[in-house]
Amino acid sequence: MNDNTQQTDAEWRSKLTPEQYRVCRQCGTEPPFTGKYWDCHDAGVYHCACCDEPLFESSCKFDSGSGWPSFWRPHRAENVTTRSDTSHGMSRDEVRCGKCGAHLGHVFPDGPQPTDLRYCINSASLNLTDD
Ligand code: FE
Repeated sequence: MNDNTQQTDAEWRSKLTPEQYRVCRQCGTEPPFTGKYWDCHDAGVYHCACCDEPLFESSCKFDSGSGWPSFWRPHRAENVTTRSDTSHGMSRDEVRCGKCGAHLGHVFPDGPQPTDLRYCINSASLNLTDD
């Protein structure tokens, strides 16, 4: 696969849908209960919509009631990075793709066991494949 992690803003804009670009490259958020994966129960691996890095597994997805796809751990810890986000008057931990830096969502400490984490991820940042 080509190294597609170092693209210019114009390249991302042309490659992604407007909604993917707004969420992934401009740290947007899709409205709850609107994305294609919040209520998806299909088996597979969720990949980054930008660079195709495997990010989350369906086996670690759970119904959080939030209206966004929710996972209790990433596929591998190194697949995602987190950093403090104090925008919008809130203190949250932003989750990004560890490979291309795409904005994915946020992680909260109110998830299920065994991690007690809730990775709250935008559908627009993900592509589910059945591998
Ligand atoms: Fe990525």
